[in-house]
Amino acid sequence: MKKLIAGNWKMNGTMESALALGSSIVEAIQAAPQILERCDFVVCPPALHIVPVETVLTQAVSLGAQDCAATENGAFTGDLSAAMLKNVHCEYVILGHSERRQYHGETDETVAAKAAAAHAKGLITIICVGETEAQRDKGQQNEVVGAQIAASLPACTTAGNTVLAYEPVWAIGTGKTATPDDIGAMHAFIRAALAKKLADAENLRILYGGSVKPGNAAEIFAVANVDGALIGGASLKTEDYMAIAQGVK
Ligand code: PEP
Repeated sequence: MKKLIAGNWKMNGTMESALALGSSIVEAIQAAPQILERCDFVVCPPALHIVPVETVLTQAVSLGAQDCAATENGAFTGDLSAAMLKNVHCEYVILGHSERRQYHGETDETVAAKAAAAHAKGLITIICVGETEAQRDKGQQNEVVGAQIAASLPACTTAGNTVLAYEPVWAIGTGKTATPDDIGAMHAFIRAALAKKLADAENLRILYGGSVKPGNAAEIFAVANVDGALIGGASLKTEDYMAIAQGVK
């Protein structure tokens, strides 16, 4: 399976910088198109920048959002529905990112409801799970991630409509990365947990996220059951984003 190189631009940039970033990623792929034999690309700009960024993307780079509502269109001030995202050609939506769980109080149940709404409109969800540093220090990582998988994936989950991102909270934006052994152990655990829920679990992509950089990408991608990366900070620089993709051998 090709690796998925997913860029989470978070709440960064201006209209101009978002357009420039999208354009330069497309140009970089056009300059080295062999990368498309090994990688699929998706970028998730801030909601306001999704529509303009689409105008500079080609088929080589899919468009994604960073969140969606669990409800249909209606009286939900400030929210964006899955139907709206689909209407402006988003293919993916990130759900349950630890920043949304932490700052917006999203629970596993919220994430599952949002995912069901997204799947109903034909979006592929990138569902994030991961333990905090305190939980890892207590050796609770499998228990925590297992519970998140059990409760955050709706009944309609398939390998075709879902990507799982393992993002240890302590590694996000901190420069700390899990070791290849820890990543391998967790991804194997996740694969086994998915196999208990899904008939096609071996085809569901499991991404690693947490301070992925050009310097550590190759060793992370070499780990069994790592099917790509969810990249925050480094996805804001085309050079770094593409260097990470070049880590896929
Ligand atoms: C993320 O936001 O999903 C992420 C992994 O961020 P960073 O790469 O900056 O750690």
